[in-house]
Amino acid sequence: MNRRKFLTFLGASGVASALATAKVAKATPHVFPYYADSYGVLHDTTRCIGCRRCEAACQEINHLPKPEKPFTDLSVCDKPRRLTAYAWTVVNKYQVNGQPFFRKLQCFHCNDPACMAACFTKCYTKLPDGAVYYDGSQCVGCRYCMVACPFYVPGFQYDLAWDPLIQKCTFCEDTRLKKHQLPACVEACPVDALTFGRRSDLIKIARQRINENPGQYVNYVYGETDAGGTAWMVLAPAAGADPGPVDDIEVTGKQLKQLGLDTELGNQPMAEFTYGALGAVPMIVAFWPVLFGGAYAITKRREAMHKAEADAAAQKARENVKAAVAAAVRKIEETEGPAAAERARAAMTDALKAAEGEEK
Ligand code: SF4
Ligand code: SF4
Ligand code: SF4
Repeated sequence: MNRRKFLTFLGASGVASALATAKVAKATPHVFPYYADSYGVLHDTTRCIGCRRCEAACQEINHLPKPEKPFTDLSVCDKPRRLTAYAWTVVNKYQVNGQPFFRKLQCFHCNDPACMAACFTKCYTKLPDGAVYYDGSQCVGCRYCMVACPFYVPGFQYDLAWDPLIQKCTFCEDTRLKKHQLPACVEACPVDALTFGRRSDLIKIARQRINENPGQYVNYVYGETDAGGTAWMVLAPAAGADPGPVDDIEVTGKQLKQLGLDTELGNQPMAEFTYGALGAVPMIVAFWPVLFGGAYAITKRREAMHKAEADAAAQKARENVKAAVAAAVRKIEETEGPAAAERARAAMTDALKAAEGEEK
């Protein structure tokens, strides 16, 4: 194991004991806890050689299917690829001021994740070690997390007819972090383009690299504050632009964009927007798992059974959903009045129709 990769992870009495004392600070108005001692990864794109060993390591540790073209075929990096349910990390080549650079994509493990805020059935958890963990046991397949994620990370198992789930980078939480091992991709990187450590230390290291290597980097650590801050962060090349400590926000933005990074996210957690939107319809939110679960059950049962049985089962599920809607409307009427109840009823009916229509 390499010291530069390992940073503060090493020698300590282990992640578990470190995290047991993790300081929890309130970072956002909706008081989502920010784990100050959490871990992260710094991706230095000036070091990355596009070898795809991180991709291969990820596939192996997570038993993901082999891609169409082998990991030794580096030409696939030329065309920007998206993450999928079966490719939790990909390395793409970008032209920054006419010079080629590679960037690894995976879940950013946001400090205050939008995916988590959007999930009605609470499949996502931000863990004190920094990982954003997805547990599919309650997943109804609504794909709201996919819509909410500003980085287009969660992938859906579209190919599975029965119980498709969301899939994404786990930060190697179960497979490695818990055993005090580095994420597989970090360990596999031959050129230290990926550095694992406490997030707070990684920010200091990033700043140090920027200051000590004028001409190499733009003066920006992507993910330090973007989208409210992320566990995985990126250092971008100067590549001919005014480098180092020179602060030129326009130049920096251009470089980041050329590296495929979204510079429009702002510094507020994306989750706040989601919480805000959900807060406007609290009763619908409260009943949504039942409703959407019902719609999902209707279509799944239809697929799984012979027609007569399927129709009967679907009818039963429909009645359950109708009863849930009626209960929700009654509750809203009691607490917020008839006009609000009517609006909620219309919204729920539309949502159910849309959900059923999409599944058909
Ligand atoms: S919002 Fe997207 S990038 Fe952030 S933790 Fe969720 S899936 Fe990962
Ligand atoms: S942290 Fe683990 S799951 Fe995530 S990209 Fe790296 S190897 Fe894959
Ligand atoms: S293993 Fe390291 S150098 Fe190779 S593509 Fe991945 S991040 Fe880049």
